[in-house]
Amino acid sequence: KGESTVSIIVVGASGDLAKKKIFPALFALFYEDCLPKHFTVFGYARSKMTDPELRNMVSKTLTCRIDKRENCGEKMDQFLKRCFYNSGQYDSEENFAELAKKLKEHEGGRVSNRLFYLSIPPNIFIDAVRCASSSASSANGWTRVIVEKPFGRDSESSAALTRGLKQYLVEDQIFRIDHYLGKELVENLSVLRFANLIFEPLWSRQYIRNVQFIFSEDFGTEGRGGYFDHYGIIRDIMQNHLLQMLTLFAMETPVSLDAEDIRNEKVKVLRSMKPLQLGNVVVGQYKSHNKGGVTYSAYTDDKTVPKNSLTPTFAAAALFIDNARWDGVPFLMKAGKALHTKRAEIRVQFRDVPGNLYKRGFGMDLDRSTNELVIRVQPDEAIYLKINNKVPGLGMRLDRSNLNLHYAARYSKEIPDAYERLLLDAIEGERRLFIRSDELDAAWELFTPLLKELEEKKIIPEYYPYGSRGPVGAHYLAAKHNVQWGDINSAEQ
Ligand code: NAP
Repeated sequence: KGESTVSIIVVGASGDLAKKKIFPALFALFYEDCLPKHFTVFGYARSKMTDPELRNMVSKTLTCRIDKRENCGEKMDQFLKRCFYNSGQYDSEENFAELAKKLKEHEGGRVSNRLFYLSIPPNIFIDAVRCASSSASSANGWTRVIVEKPFGRDSESSAALTRGLKQYLVEDQIFRIDHYLGKELVENLSVLRFANLIFEPLWSRQYIRNVQFIFSEDFGTEGRGGYFDHYGIIRDIMQNHLLQMLTLFAMETPVSLDAEDIRNEKVKVLRSMKPLQLGNVVVGQYKSHNKGGVTYSAYTDDKTVPKNSLTPTFAAAALFIDNARWDGVPFLMKAGKALHTKRAEIRVQFRDVPGNLYKRGFGMDLDRSTNELVIRVQPDEAIYLKINNKVPGLGMRLDRSNLNLHYAARYSKEIPDAYERLLLDAIEGERRLFIRSDELDAAWELFTPLLKELEEKKIIPEYYPYGSRGPVGAHYLAAKHNVQWGDINSAEQ
């Protein structure tokens, strides 16, 4: 085969995600020399725009990393020259054919590879895929499609979406993004486990008491609740981001680092999970709160949310994996909006030291003296291990200290955005960090019965004040499983 070229078509280029994430990530890849020699970026949407207007819109979103400020303007100009725009409807084969004609001109007779990024509302995914595949797919290279969540809202709608996509695409052409999989520390989970002798032998029910996956945002929906209200926090965060981290955390050692080997192991975890019981779930919704003279609005004060909405903005759940490695170990998840802090982390709490010589006295709080490994995914990435340590000096007093790998201190490089890694992988055909259809089915199978029960029984969420730690029910849920949320003394880090 001769030289090849890649065309990246951002479908929905006028939208929020395209501006916030996709164009900046493509530019960062260009700046890092990661894009192929021949590439073009095409914006596609219904909005009327000329090429210069698209470039002007895109240019406002581009930034250079602190360590890459040299030649930044020059690089931006070079990148923008490779950006073009085609206005069209999402369900018009004719409009996609016009796009294809322009793509062909730019491909200049080289082998043509085309990556469509569907950055549009999900109800028009299938139309766009139908038109792209019939009128704008590559004749002599590959055609791939990146799809953004939501992938349905339950097992049935997700399966219908997958069936729709597969009318026009084969599995290998579908790249379902869960941007958490592109996060540096999530990718590092496997390295931590499988490239260090000291962790993997401890990675089981024998040594681990519980594992916690925590996501919190310190703001609410703030006028953008319309989309959220249809999904809620369980679908928006737990069923995808937190569950993905859980499967990577808990999977058996894959045969290799090959995408299929890793995804096979992740699916096995999902299929080994016990059905999620309503009694092991707490849902909450934030209410208004007055702090320092400022009133923070309730979820239902958001004009785009129905006044009587029962949609959870917070949820906590205890999950169990029914296999030899994890039998009986609670995997706790907690996700919420409008909480006191913004972060995503994994906390691994280890068992007590058997026959611990230092169990009594020595100034330690017995309940909190076990080891804990914390993987802080965001912000301010870090991995730290809480150990019991002797306080220096005469006498014998212990305290808890951290063995700390703080990324900002250890690595001077800025960490690439998750979208950069994922876009690069899609261009290179690396599928490891994308969700396979059977994986998605298994994830929905776990959550769909619970979601239906919550909705059918019209379970009323526990209300918590905006900016608080969430409903107290989450603590009772943890206590029921003999667990304390690890962020109780969160002043620590
Ligand atoms: P968006 O701004 O609402 O929509 C993207 C573009 O699609 C719009 O500029 C608009 O372009 C077109 N569009 C919007 N509503 C439409 C409708 N009802 N019918 C036909 N076209 C319509 O969406 P986004 O926030 O960029 O997100 C894109 C996709 O990524 C969505 O599936 C979203 O769920 C997902 N996502 C977004 C984020 C985020 O941070 N924004 C995060 C995760 C996932 P034209 O009018 O010019 O055609």
